[in-house]
Amino acid sequence: MYTFIERSCCPVCGGVEHKELYAEPFATGATWEFLKDYYENRLDITQMGEARYVLLRCAACKLIYQRFVLAEEGLSDLYERAIDPQASLAKRTDADESYARGLWVDSGYVMRFFSERRPEQLDVLDFGMGWGHWCVGAKRHGYNVFGAELSEVRKDYALQNGVKLCAPLEKDNDQLFDFINTDQVVEHLTDPLKILSSLAQKLRKGGVIKIFVPNSPVDYRAIKAGRWRPAKDAFHPLEHVNGFNRFSIDVLARRAGLRALTLAEMVKAKGIRGLMAWTRRAMGDPNWYFRRD
Ligand SMILES: [Zn+2]
Repeated sequence: MYTFIERSCCPVCGGVEHKELYAEPFATGATWEFLKDYYENRLDITQMGEARYVLLRCAACKLIYQRFVLAEEGLSDLYERAIDPQASLAKRTDADESYARGLWVDSGYVMRFFSERRPEQLDVLDFGMGWGHWCVGAKRHGYNVFGAELSEVRKDYALQNGVKLCAPLEKDNDQLFDFINTDQVVEHLTDPLKILSSLAQKLRKGGVIKIFVPNSPVDYRAIKAGRWRPAKDAFHPLEHVNGFNRFSIDVLARRAGLRALTLAEMVKAKGIRGLMAWTRRAMGDPNWYFRRD
């Protein structure tokens, strides 16, 4: 049976006051229906025991988080076995050309946060790189690129594609970075503050970290409207254990020693896209860039 860890306070701000948005045993109702279908019957209902899917909204920072999260063994079973590695890789390799081009375009902005530096002078890390396709795109711009990942099969694949592996949070690692990419990673973390604080320490002064996560305000509106069921969204049971909005991501970054980039910095780096991101952020979108000053 899976072991679950109870998060007795908000994993971003430490607050204990919250509102319960949803609660149901993982093995029953709409939660189990979703898990059964999403993982194509690769999850065993008896592994869930009596554990409950409980969604809380922190009264202080407005993070929406799952109270009970899988312990390490369950997480590796979920991510390494229940998510079929072949299917996960095929999603990337079968994608049309716009997927690779999108990663190349996205990583191309990295150098524009550092206008006085040449690409080959920039040390860049993709934290939670998955199969390493962002790293491959980033390398084409000439940066010194590293990829960090837990999954052995994904690391092997990335290594074969010429990606340099890195374990930035290991004690003996002294590599520092100018830019850290985290894309669809922080929402999965049991202790996001601990990990982000450690990553912030791996940034050089002036370094930038990109934090992209699902946009939870959209799904929260569905909850408030009473038409929400467990789904592959910002509150995906077992996986997306932290649902961020603009405010909670700012609290997390600030506590980790980072500051949000200003509109002027974003427009300088990303032009019209920076302005569009700012507009989405004004409406609650958490996706943004942060700097270590
Ligand atoms: Zn909070």
